[in-house]
Amino acid sequence: MTSPLLQVENLDVRYGETRALVDVSVALGAREVVALVGANGAGKSSLLNALLGLVPQAGGAIALAGKRIETLPTRERIASGLALSPEGRRVFPDLSVEENLDLGDLGGDPAARRERRETVNSWFPRLRERRQQLAGTLSGGEQQMLAIGRALMARPRVLMLDEPTLGLAPLIVQEIAAFIRHIRSTGVSVLLAEQNAEMALSVADRAYVLQNGEVVMHGGARELAAHPDVRAAYLGL
Ligand code: ATP
Repeated sequence: MTSPLLQVENLDVRYGETRALVDVSVALGAREVVALVGANGAGKSSLLNALLGLVPQAGGAIALAGKRIETLPTRERIASGLALSPEGRRVFPDLSVEENLDLGDLGGDPAARRERRETVNSWFPRLRERRQQLAGTLSGGEQQMLAIGRALMARPRVLMLDEPTLGLAPLIVQEIAAFIRHIRSTGVSVLLAEQNAEMALSVADRAYVLQNGEVVMHGGARELAAHPDVRAAYLGL
């Protein structure tokens, strides 16, 4: 069996006495969408942030395309193919759309950056229309698209999305779901942390359910969506 694109084994994250992740193992294949489902505080953000080295890791191994990355600084992890659209979007409100996008670029040739920006703009026509506009004046949905676009400027192999639909109208949620399917078709894998389990399980191939920092269930998204415990706890059914 070939090894997955991203393999996380026995990851531990602690904040002082709080054990945010306990022995978490997660895998993500090429061209796969994997959802992390769980309540507020279950550890989804801690997992994504630990993959990028944004929070310290107390134990465990992370391999991307067979190469161990857990000791690398964040910038090198991004260069090796991981990128994050963070919870709360975190766009820079006083910078233009174009400037925000450029912040996601890893540097190098300006012509290559322009070309990449064009590609990202072609995925989000509304960002292109508003490219000179200050990010703080965009709607919530547009800011989310900008945060995703900024992550994609780094040309990731794995795009990590932390709560991309939080606070957004149902129509925008659908647009984001459609975009996730589209980006997978371009060859990018997606690791999606969502409290909106319905949306997450509708776009994901597989999913992991996190509870109090532990993986309590994992499997095919369709199977999980039909599981009575998941339906009761996360789908409100
Ligand atoms: P949310 O959707 O609210 O972000 P989550 O599933 O992403 O929830 P985390 O944010 O990863 O969960 O939080 C996991 C646990 O770690 C929670 O108990 C949280 O209170 C705690 N925690 C998170 N960040 C910190 C921090 N910087 N310092 C101390 N405890 C933290």
